[in-house]
Amino acid sequence: MLSNFKVVLVETSHPGNIGAVARAMKNMGMNQLRLVTPKYFPHADATARASGADDVLKIASIHDSLSEAIADCQIVLGASARDRTISWPSVTARECAEKWVDVAGGANIALVFGRENSGLKNHELDLCQYLLRIPCNAEYSSLNLAAAVQVVCYELFVASGRQYASSIGDRGEESLATAEQMEGFYLHLQQTMADIGFLQPERSKSIMRRLRRVFNRAWLDTKELDILRGILRFSQNHNLK
Ligand code: SAH
Repeated sequence: MLSNFKVVLVETSHPGNIGAVARAMKNMGMNQLRLVTPKYFPHADATARASGADDVLKIASIHDSLSEAIADCQIVLGASARDRTISWPSVTARECAEKWVDVAGGANIALVFGRENSGLKNHELDLCQYLLRIPCNAEYSSLNLAAAVQVVCYELFVASGRQYASSIGDRGEESLATAEQMEGFYLHLQQTMADIGFLQPERSKSIMRRLRRVFNRAWLDTKELDILRGILRFSQNHNLK
């Protein structure tokens, strides 16, 4: 759930944006939302734009100040579209995800987003250790608040590997094949390829190594492995006829 990442919105003017942020977060498996003195909240526009992510809105916390909202966070990043005269160390959304998604000890990480019309003030950025940037068109660099949250949450989602797990329909129901099962499969594959006359003994080593690489990339589960072994058995039987 990436629950150690807290999305913090500072003085949001349009409640619809708060709803859109909740939706963007839930799409990426996140639900920890903190609001610093929102202009209107709760609000029907927020619920409407959340479009099914109102559970995220329901558990959102409201704070009187940014310092209160980030009090329990070990790492604080302030998202900004603007070049600042004072320079803070900065990271891109991708660097942030790669750097902190597996942070040891599950430290709380605040991702602070500014006001729609004026962003974050310098004294607020003083509370942040890093500036968080979404690389984009230098001539037109200010994203809509919810779009900015979406990009950052997406990078976290990808970095956490969750997109892989959910991209395969029934992943999770079957356990991944063990090394022993994979070795059994490779032996079977090699034997079958020899039986059908595909594999010359002198080339078998390099071909098997390449095939291992292919299957290593696939992270087969036991059901998928059974299907592949079924195909191998079928072609062996067919070849014997
Ligand atoms: N007009 C404001 C920007 C408002 S956009 C300004 O001048 O700063 C609302 C918020 O979305 C910003 O405060 C920032 O937190 C985030 N945001 C928008 N575009 C961004 C970008 N390119 N990189 C990082 N954060 C961005």
